[in-house]
Amino acid sequence: MTSHSIPINSLLRHIEPLQAALAQAANDVIGSGHFVLGRRVAAFEAEFAAYCGSGHCIGVANGTDALELALKGMGVAPGDRVIVAANAAMYATSAVLACGAEPVFADILPDEATLDPAAVEAVLRTQPAAKALVATHLYGRLARMRELLALCRAHGVAVVEDCAQAHGARDADGVRAGALGDIASFSFYPTKNLGALGDGGAVVCGDDALAARVRQLRQYGWTGKYTNALAGGRNSRLDEIQAAMLSAMLPLLDGWNRRRRAIANRYSEQIRNASIATSPVAGDDYVAHLYVIRSDRRDELREHLAAAGVQTDIHYPTPDHRQPCHGGRYADIDLPHTQRDAARVLTLPCFPEMTDDEVAGVIQACNRF
Ligand SMILES: *Cc1c(COP(=O)(O)O)cnc(C)c1O
Repeated sequence: MTSHSIPINSLLRHIEPLQAALAQAANDVIGSGHFVLGRRVAAFEAEFAAYCGSGHCIGVANGTDALELALKGMGVAPGDRVIVAANAAMYATSAVLACGAEPVFADILPDEATLDPAAVEAVLRTQPAAKALVATHLYGRLARMRELLALCRAHGVAVVEDCAQAHGARDADGVRAGALGDIASFSFYPTKNLGALGDGGAVVCGDDALAARVRQLRQYGWTGKYTNALAGGRNSRLDEIQAAMLSAMLPLLDGWNRRRRAIANRYSEQIRNASIATSPVAGDDYVAHLYVIRSDRRDELREHLAAAGVQTDIHYPTPDHRQPCHGGRYADIDLPHTQRDAARVLTLPCFPEMTDDEVAGVIQACNRF
């Protein structure tokens, strides 16, 4: 099997069937003479807001900017405290720091990798007031939104959903990621469930005034041309070509997500190995952005899979509170589940264009470990 290895992802396979349509759409933009904040961005914003079941979508430059602008939109200002998980590659933490605010780390659920409501409750009860909480739907699995929302409502804390891995995920009532909290951020980085051919992102929210504020924040804090009325403004815009790419791909998202979930569920059903923990078979609340297994022998398992021609990755190896950029500032913080996961998680190939034979190959390689 080493001769034809199974990649963790393949954007070439993903884009190939769309290449002609995407080239045509890009050409239309080139011929239009409008490249920034034109009718294609407006069209995609309307389509994506409708897809999410929310009132507004504001296209921005990437998912990290989307988080920052969502936080600023909710009024997060320098010195404010924002509750975040520490297992999502610094995205939320970076956005909080970019607002001049202070990240407050809470631990995750041991098997779901999303914020543990009990840990959040403890933070809200014992620590100084927080302004907002970022609920990251990590790996494409919805965070425990009902419990988190109830806790945050009771304490006057704004809830920002980070949906960068969860485009299209739905809760038990059919409500999609992006329409569950007060405001939401998305990334359209190429490998995401909905990905552009470059960088892109969006803020989604239901409230008209909030949407208007974020629209101003993404363009220098302008309330009108060359009038910078809003503090904290940025330049962070989605461009016309990326918007056209995204409009062409959005109708395919649900089908891609179904295929991702089918692959993930096959792994959950058929990987049988005493040294590997899989997650339970999932429904619509999981769009399988990443399929993650856990093992106490993770590094050994990774070598075994590599030898069998199966590419893997680790999402993510270093928790936010242990990143070198903080200069030891959070060295005293202990997040047992977060730290344990960082040493145990391993991501298997899971992308819509995987063949059934490749899926079987991954399962066989895992079961032979
Ligand atoms: C990818 C990602 C982001 C950041 O998106 P960029 O477009 O790369 O800035 C934020 N949060 C999560 C959970 C992500 O996976």
